[in-house]
Amino acid sequence: MCPAFGSLRILSRIEGSHPVMATDTGCLYGLTFVTHFYGARKSILAAHLRTSELMSGEIVESTRAAIDVAAKEPGCQLIPVVSLCVAETAGLPEEMLPRRIGDAEVVLVRVPAYAIHSHPEAKDVALAALLRRLGQPEGERDDKSLVLLGEVFPADPLIIDAVVRQMGVSGTITLPGRSIDDLRRAARAGALAPLHPFYKETTAVFRGWDMPVVGGAPVGASGSYAWLQAVGRLLKLDPALVNATAESERDKAQAILNAQPLSGRILVTGYEGTELAYARLLIEAGADVPYVSTSIGADPLVLPDEMWLKAHGTKEVIYRKSLEDDLAALDEYKPDLVLGTTPFASAAKERGIPALYFTNQLASRPFFLSGGMAATIAFIRQMLTKGAQYQWMQEFFEVDHA
Ligand code: SF4
Repeated sequence: MCPAFGSLRILSRIEGSHPVMATDTGCLYGLTFVTHFYGARKSILAAHLRTSELMSGEIVESTRAAIDVAAKEPGCQLIPVVSLCVAETAGLPEEMLPRRIGDAEVVLVRVPAYAIHSHPEAKDVALAALLRRLGQPEGERDDKSLVLLGEVFPADPLIIDAVVRQMGVSGTITLPGRSIDDLRRAARAGALAPLHPFYKETTAVFRGWDMPVVGGAPVGASGSYAWLQAVGRLLKLDPALVNATAESERDKAQAILNAQPLSGRILVTGYEGTELAYARLLIEAGADVPYVSTSIGADPLVLPDEMWLKAHGTKEVIYRKSLEDDLAALDEYKPDLVLGTTPFASAAKERGIPALYFTNQLASRPFFLSGGMAATIAFIRQMLTKGAQYQWMQEFFEVDHA
């Protein structure tokens, strides 16, 4: 699927935002469909770009006309202009677009598929573009507040907020979110905590505002403990309070891992960019995870998880993976369960191996801290018992029942 969808997904969910797409009619059809599928509930406006407009160099005029229409939408405060393959190839100069129209900021977001290789990275590019324009670092900082960075299951930010407040955090802001005001005030928070490792442009914007960045993510027993300690250090919270909270979370997480241990070999593959964190949790619960692959590229933000995985038995961590990489791992490691993309999950099922579709079945469950992990572990544990049923199904369909 077109990676630009990742950006459109977060841009269309912001209240008061009316995205304009600069792309040709074919792209528009697919992207409009998936945006509605994921519940943005607003029409996507687009420049009128067919071959004739492209040939006569009318991209800027057509895009400006679409911006004018977007600005007339009731309550419009933000018009992200999502520039895709065709418009980027033909050329869409930023200085030819208005920076502001009426009450709305106009922000150009360049996400052509030939430069942005995955959905997660398109989200990062879009969020960074918004923050560069809207972030307001001047003014009084809230030194005890925390920005949570990552599109996560809706319960996760609530769970994290409740725990970090126990150790003195004044409040959290979750990005990407629905509020334009959050984009403005995030620039004055005390620290940034990327929950997902692929927000590197966005993280660079925060670093430009001299904001400290918390490494890792609150995943599993050891990961949650280390993350809470890091938050406490960077926000200069009371060490006794931080210790008590971190130890309590570690104990609760360990109790869940002890109560629901996993046994079996699992391959973790996907395109969400969160695969390494999931693999880490599964290994802590007792699973053997020899192979992890993801669509995102290697980056220092992912390195701590990669090192942890390799120290705990993972033989291969593949970035920018292909389906062929994953299929080769299926031959080599003969897993009991596969977490993967649709084609890879299908390939595993054809061999009688239980498989879960990463995006719809895993990312749709809470995951972080002890309050989030139980649902994920229980689900995986249940799937690991399904081997015989999948084998039976495979044999059933192999027999000619005619
Ligand atoms: S041409 Fe580019 S923007 Fe259009 S659908 Fe394909 S990848 Fe997406």
